[in-house]
Amino acid sequence: MRIGAHVSAAGGIHRAVTRATAIGAECAQLFLGAPQRWSKVEYSDDEVAAFRRLAEDGHVGPNVVHAPYIVNLAASDERLRRRSISSLIDQMQWCDRLDIMGLVVHVGSAKGAPSHEEALNSVADAIEEILANSTTTAFLVENTAGMGASIGSSFADIGSILDRLGHDERVRLCLDTAHTFEAGYDITTSDGLDEVLQKCDRHVGLDRLAAVHANDSKTRFGSNVDRHENIGQGHLGEQALGYFMRHPAVAQTPFYLEVPGLAGHGPDRPNIDALRRLAGLAPARVRGSNET
Ligand SMILES: [Zn+2]
Ligand SMILES: [Zn+2]
Repeated sequence: MRIGAHVSAAGGIHRAVTRATAIGAECAQLFLGAPQRWSKVEYSDDEVAAFRRLAEDGHVGPNVVHAPYIVNLAASDERLRRRSISSLIDQMQWCDRLDIMGLVVHVGSAKGAPSHEEALNSVADAIEEILANSTTTAFLVENTAGMGASIGSSFADIGSILDRLGHDERVRLCLDTAHTFEAGYDITTSDGLDEVLQKCDRHVGLDRLAAVHANDSKTRFGSNVDRHENIGQGHLGEQALGYFMRHPAVAQTPFYLEVPGLAGHGPDRPNIDALRRLAGLAPARVRGSNET
């Protein structure tokens, strides 16, 4: 089990690694470019090499990139859909060079599509094209909270995208604990969690689980509203997150925190240590400090 966090890559992509190390994150998630805009990503060979070297030397990994939020692989506006596909091809190609394990994607919304089935077809066709234009990095479909017509809030949705892709082994799942709860899967009891993970296994396959976003939820069960909270301070709470962290199904999965942080600057050491404690692990070792 590796416990890490989303970190900023501001000021140079290698800074994401040093920021991860500074808060005791064993693996990192980052954005390539601005998540709310169409930004063309460009790194020099030196920048790519520095990122890879720092990650390797600091044993930070496996690392993931979170795709921009504006992509919609099911957009009924064909121009927006094409733009989304080329943006994700670009991101995947950089991920390949940066030795990133997976690109985490909210696949889009079925709003304006003739039917939900048609929207799932569009998503699958788009992913096929993205995979054909990249080599090693996995495409991680993230389950969503179910806001509006968003695709991927149910395991059935994600499973049927996989079916359409012939279960290509590069398409995998990123499970967000807050989104799962917000989408109406009750993981607050030990039995409930077992049942939800069985559902996930039936539709998607737990062998597809490549990453977990470990977040508490600011909104209530079934709210369909995606708002993250610090570990133990939200409606999921410590007990539910503890069941999750200690479940055998996720023992080999890397975890990435996406919480607001105690000071509001994003994931921090107290949240990492809170999660480690729930998993039964000792506090994080932070390199460069006197603490062990
Ligand atoms: Zn996400
Ligand atoms: Zn997430």
